[in-house]
Amino acid sequence: MDEKDCIFCKIVRKEMDSKVVYEDDEVFAFEDINGRAPVHVLVVPRQHVANLEEIGELPDAVAKHLFEVASTVAEQLGVTEGGYAVRINNGRDAGQEVFHLHLHVIGGKKLGMP
Ligand code: AMP
Ligand code: ZN
Repeated sequence: MDEKDCIFCKIVRKEMDSKVVYEDDEVFAFEDINGRAPVHVLVVPRQHVANLEEIGELPDAVAKHLFEVASTVAEQLGVTEGGYAVRINNGRDAGQEVFHLHLHVIGGKKLGMP
């Protein structure tokens, strides 16, 4: 799937609705449509990269900034103190469904490893 058909590219360009949690010039964060916890937000680079194998295509500062935004979102939604998970499903065995790199920020309940 290329950028033209990518749903997260459409969300970032606001051609498709989402519940926006945070945005700046490089990174966009929105609520997961099928949240599995009280806090479940997806943090994506505006630039389309499919997965971790392509992360080298992002400027280093943007790759770092994804994690800074994950932390900002956690703070904004009140889960910093309680803790939260940051997860990337990468590839088939991880169940990756959307091939636009994204961090899941999940919190607000007790979490375990899968
Ligand atoms: P994965 O690729 O396994 O990390 O999963 C993709 C995630 O995107 C899932 O948790 C979906 O619920 C979520 N998702 C899919 N479509 C949308 C959408 N239009 N808006 C918000 N979240 C979505
Ligand atoms: Zn995309």
